[in-house]
Amino acid sequence: MKLTDKIFRSTIGCKATTFITGAILCGSIALAQTPNKGVIDAIMKEGTQNSQLEKLGRELLDGVGPRLVGTPQMKQANDWAVAKYAEWGITARNEQWGTWRGWERGVSHIDMILPRVKSLEGTQLAWSPGMGKKTATAQVIILPDLADSIAFKNWLPTVKGKFVMISICQSIGRDENNLKTFALPSTYTKIKAERDTLTKLWAARIKKTGLTTKTLPVALEKAGAAGVLTNYWSAGFGVDKIFQAYTKKIPTVDIGMEDYTLIYRLTEAGNPPTLKIHTEAKELGEVPTFNTLAEIKGTEKPNEYVMLSAHFDSWDGGTGATDNGTGTLTMMEAMRILKKIYPNPKRTILVGHWGSEEQGLNGSRAFVEDHPEIVANLQALFNQDNGTGRVTSLAGQGYVEPKDYLIRWLNAAPDTIKNRVKTSFPGQPGSGGSDFASFVAVGAPGFSISSLSWDYSTYTWHTNRDTYDKIIFDDVRNNAILAAILAYMASEDPAKTINTKTPGIKWPVQTKATRRGGFD
Ligand SMILES: [Zn+2]
Repeated sequence: MKLTDKIFRSTIGCKATTFITGAILCGSIALAQTPNKGVIDAIMKEGTQNSQLEKLGRELLDGVGPRLVGTPQMKQANDWAVAKYAEWGITARNEQWGTWRGWERGVSHIDMILPRVKSLEGTQLAWSPGMGKKTATAQVIILPDLADSIAFKNWLPTVKGKFVMISICQSIGRDENNLKTFALPSTYTKIKAERDTLTKLWAARIKKTGLTTKTLPVALEKAGAAGVLTNYWSAGFGVDKIFQAYTKKIPTVDIGMEDYTLIYRLTEAGNPPTLKIHTEAKELGEVPTFNTLAEIKGTEKPNEYVMLSAHFDSWDGGTGATDNGTGTLTMMEAMRILKKIYPNPKRTILVGHWGSEEQGLNGSRAFVEDHPEIVANLQALFNQDNGTGRVTSLAGQGYVEPKDYLIRWLNAAPDTIKNRVKTSFPGQPGSGGSDFASFVAVGAPGFSISSLSWDYSTYTWHTNRDTYDKIIFDDVRNNAILAAILAYMASEDPAKTINTKTPGIKWPVQTKATRRGGFD
C-alpha cells in the first residue's frame, strides 16, 4: 500500500491552533497534535504484514556475523547497511569517526590430549594474537593462592611453557532460576553463600599478585607461559562472556565453564591435563572506523532532526544478535516503513548506526562532537539497546518537558503496543549504558526505548550464545512499529521540543570519544 502526501498533511497541527488561540499556545498545549489514524494504521500494517526483520537478521547476523570494531566484518556490515538503504530509496553513508587496531578472528582449536582426548568448547578472546602455523602443546597450571606480590614474583618462573588458568573454578554450574526451582531452601542458601565466598577469595587471589586481570596475563606472557586460560561464566547453562585479550604474543582463550572446571579439578587433584591449542588471527594495522547514517529529508523543517539510534558494533563471541543486532534491525525496519508510509516528513528523520559503542560509546560521542548543528536542532532521539524484548519502559532522562510530549507521541501507538510501556518522569539522565547517553550529556533529548529482559544479562549480553535463534521476532516487530510511530509523531509535532534539566538533578558530564583505539 502506498499512501499519498495528502494523508500525511491532514494532521490537525499547530497552525490551526495558532489561528484560534494565538502563537503563545503553540506547542504548549498537548491537544495541538492529533495523529493521523491512516498513517498509524499503515505503519502497523506494513510492519506486521510485510516485515523484513527475519530477512535482514539472516543477512546481517548469519551472513556478515559479529561486528567487532576494527574487523573487516564491521566494515562489511557498514557497507551492507548503506546498500540496503539504497535499495529502499533512502540516502545513506558511512562517516568515519576514527581509527582502530585492525584484527580479524581466525580459527580456535582447543583440545585436551591427556589424561584422555576431548575437544574443548572454547575460543580465543578478541584481539588475541594469532599463532600462525604453530600449535602449542603444554601442561596446565593454576594460579595459586600466594601471600603477596613477592611470593608471586618467586612463583612466576614456574609458568614457563605452561598454560596458566587465571579464572575461578565454579562449584555449581546451574542458573539462578534452575536453583530456585529445584534446590532445597537449605541447599540454595548454601550454594549461594559458597559462590559468594569463592568469588571474593578469587578476587583476593588476583589482588595479592599485585596485578589485575588486565596486567596479569601480560606478566605471564613475559615469564614464558604458553597461553592464558580464562573463563568468564555468565551464570547460565553454556554461556560465557567473551571479551578481549591483553597478551601480545601468546593466545588468551576462554574455555567454556563445563570444560574449564573439568581441567581445573583434574589439575587440583594432582593430575594436570595436557592441552593442545592452535589459534589464528590477522593483524591488519590501523583501520578507519565508521558510523552508518541514513536520512529521510524533512520537507518543512529539514534542519530539525528526529533521530533513531542503535549501535551497530558488537563483541564477537556470538553474532551480536541481541546486542545490538535487534536494535539495529528495529531501526532499519522503522526507516524502511517510514520511507514507504511517510516519505515526506516535516522534519528530517535520521538514523545513527554507531560504531564502537562497546568500547565506550565512541561512535555516538564522536557524532555529538562532530555535528553540533544536528544536536542543537534535535527534536528527539530514540535508542534501543537491551535485547530482543518488546519495549516496556520509557523515561524522561531528567528533563522537565518530555512528560508532555513523550506521552503525547506514545499515545498515538495502538493499545497493544503502548499499554505495556511504563513511563517515568522526569527520570534520571543516563550517564552511560548506551548511545542515548552521549546526547543526554550535552543536554539534548536522547531517550532509551527499553526492553523486557528475556534473561538478556545472563544469556545473551556479550556471550557466546548471542545468536539469531535467540531473537523473538514478534517483539522486535512491536519495537520497529513503535520506533516508526514515535519518529512520525516527533516529526509532525507542531512545536520544537524544549528540554529543561530538572532542577536539583546532577547532570553527567560529556566524555570525549576515543578516536584511535586498541593499541594500548
Ligand atoms: Zn549494546
